[in-house]
Amino acid sequence: MVVMKFGGTSVGDGERILRAARIVVCEATTGGTPVVVVSAMEGVTDALIRAARAAAHHKSDLLHRTIAELYSRHEGAARKVAAPGERGTLLTEVRALVREFENLCSAIQVLGELTPRGLDAVASLGERLSVRLLATAVRREGAPARAIEATGLIVTNDRHGAASPLLEPTRKRTRAVLLPLLEEGVTPVVTGFIGATAEGAITTLGRGGSDFTAAILGYCLDVEEVWIWTDVDGVMTADPRIVPEARTLPELSYAEAAELSYFGAKVIHPKTILPAVERKIPIRIKNTFNPDGPSTLIVDQPRNNGALVKAITSIKGLSLLTVEGRGMLGVPGIAAKLFSAVAEQGISVLMISQSSSEQSICFVIRDEETEGALRALEEAFAPELAGRNVDRIWAERGVAIVAAVGKGMKEVPGIAAKLFGALGREGINVISIAQGSSEYNVSLVVKEGEVDQAVRAIHREFALGG
Ligand code: ASP
Ligand code: MG
Repeated sequence: MVVMKFGGTSVGDGERILRAARIVVCEATTGGTPVVVVSAMEGVTDALIRAARAAAHHKSDLLHRTIAELYSRHEGAARKVAAPGERGTLLTEVRALVREFENLCSAIQVLGELTPRGLDAVASLGERLSVRLLATAVRREGAPARAIEATGLIVTNDRHGAASPLLEPTRKRTRAVLLPLLEEGVTPVVTGFIGATAEGAITTLGRGGSDFTAAILGYCLDVEEVWIWTDVDGVMTADPRIVPEARTLPELSYAEAAELSYFGAKVIHPKTILPAVERKIPIRIKNTFNPDGPSTLIVDQPRNNGALVKAITSIKGLSLLTVEGRGMLGVPGIAAKLFSAVAEQGISVLMISQSSSEQSICFVIRDEETEGALRALEEAFAPELAGRNVDRIWAERGVAIVAAVGKGMKEVPGIAAKLFGALGREGINVISIAQGSSEYNVSLVVKEGEVDQAVRAIHREFALGG
């Protein structure tokens, strides 16, 4: 048994839904037992959320435009994917769900208020729509299938917008509902992203939550693998738009995949795969648009783990803040004070480095948070600034992080030297370096304008293109 999850681009229109359906049918009719999870059609969740906010602010224009678009996109897809005999039923169901959206938005408009619970009810509609389209398409392509709303499977707490599953009750319900269907040879097509509280209120698992759904179902059903169908050939050694010779990594560990995600690669959110990791269920990343092409298997212990550096990733739009002062030497609590001041602003820190002389601490944040962070630090360190223990707090804007990811880099001498060497030859200045406490990554800060060149240089240095 495998879970197959299709993301929003894989079901972006009627044509694509049929393509996904053929992939499902191929698995179901060649001895496999697929359990399908599907996201909303591309862009739909965003549109729903935007429109619900517009309703709360009485912006009727945007709301009406969204309603019209939802009807036309889903009706168009419904006409495309349904066999003639099913077209009428599917259209009726699709229209009823868009009507539900209209009604919810009217209520939000009257109240002039959008609660997290209301927002979840609205946001869930994208998957409740797409699941019907895909199930119908699978039947059209020749395998019995049923649309299932995960509200009846996934029991969550009531943290609307970012709910957590309660795994034990979820496991019970999922098995009770899905196993008999599978036994009958019916492929369940389940909504990604959503669940419900024990009381039955609809919740969502956080943006991009369909991967989470796939991992949860995989965990509950003890599947052999979870397949994430997306629009790229698995996880690559670098972004192919930056490095043309980038290639697909055949295997990766959970930890390496997590590290890549933290550093901006569009892999899979570490939190969302936890249920699968806990059972050591392998996760395969595949391309809907190139189903026979290369894919990546994410496992606990990858084979062929010889490569020290496996992938290079980068994040742009950052800023490097430095707190500097000779008086910081040996004074305990400076770092604690610094990071709590930043954390109080809700600013997340991507990378930290402290020189061993302890005369400066620098850290990287998103560029748009620079002003807020500087103000918070100046306030927090006002006494130290006055007493000259801290001399200067400043920001260098327009920087980027390049991260080299791979297991075992930390233990091997010379990796950093090799990284610096590669960049030195290109004349790229390394502004700061940090080695994460995990052994999986070394990150460098460079000027944003040089980051693509840096990624290419490191990719070449470690011969990742093969
Ligand atoms: N449709 C949801 C979102 O856009 C969930 C997902 O796509 O995974 O966040
Ligand atoms: Mg999506």
